Amino acid sequence: MKKILVNGAQGRMGSEVVKLVARSRDFQLVAAVDVDNIGEDIHQLLGITAPQVEIEDDLEAAIEAHNPEVVVDFTTPQVVMENIEVGLTSGTDMVVGTTGITESDLSKIEEWAAAGEANIIIAPNFAIGAILMMEFAQMAAKYFEGVEIIELHHNQKIDAPSGTAIKTAELINKASEINQEGVEEIEKLTGARGGQEGEINIHSVRLPGLVAHQEVIFGGEGQTFKLRHDSIDRSSFMPGVRLAIQCVAEAEGVVYGLDNLIDL
Ligand code: NAP
Repeated sequence: MKKILVNGAQGRMGSEVVKLVARSRDFQLVAAVDVDNIGEDIHQLLGITAPQVEIEDDLEAAIEAHNPEVVVDFTTPQVVMENIEVGLTSGTDMVVGTTGITESDLSKIEEWAAAGEANIIIAPNFAIGAILMMEFAQMAAKYFEGVEIIELHHNQKIDAPSGTAIKTAELINKASEINQEGVEEIEKLTGARGGQEGEINIHSVRLPGLVAHQEVIFGGEGQTFKLRHDSIDRSSFMPGVRLAIQCVAEAEGVVYGLDNLIDL
């Protein structure tokens, strides 16, 4: 059984991962790290019948004490780089879903992976439908003059825009030279036209009741074309997380994006 440490174990995503591990015959939870309820049993807190695993607050100490084979991180953009440094330099493979990792962060991560001889799979979105949306968006990009992205998330999400929206824009920019010609705009309310990744405008909506959703809207002469993906429950991310945990030992360094693990 693969020994797993979940970092951010009490969070919305981390607790789904703890449930996934508890359900799986191939994985065993050896440690749970978070900032609150230290010393309490994560399984009992989440109402899961499984052997006791006490919550700890020091990732480095937990890795040393429990020797996990994989650290799964769903924490916050503010702490994720620190966590990755600790995990990789200790020589432990990692699966990271926490967003906020930029292209320029990846070179640092590569150094840490090499130093620790460990592998890491980072995916801003573990839902297969979102991966397909990004793939189809690259296909469509060649045929339209304009494109904008609207991403919609629950109102507890800290960062904006989402990692998926940024990655989608990066992929579209690589697939096709988007050169959106328009008029000289006057923004009467700051931010009304959203943020920009290259030439692509990204708009972020935050509301209670939402989970994770995205629309990519293309515009051309006399027509629009819309791709939409909805994660209506956080369980939608778990097949991707399971696949990443299974693959990370053979990942060979840094892998960015679940698309690299799927036959598209
Ligand atoms: P969340 O509910 O706020 O969970 C984060 C958890 O990490 C909280 O329990 C938080 O504790 C804890 N934490 C904060 N700092 C920590 C530290 N230094 N060490 C250990 N634990 C720490 O957030 P979420 O909705 O689960 O999302 C987590 C991340 O995953 C976000 O970046 C989100 O955008 C991303 N996400 C990714 C995917 C994907 O498919 N890749 C899908 C959904 C979400 P406190 O609450 O006490 O601060």
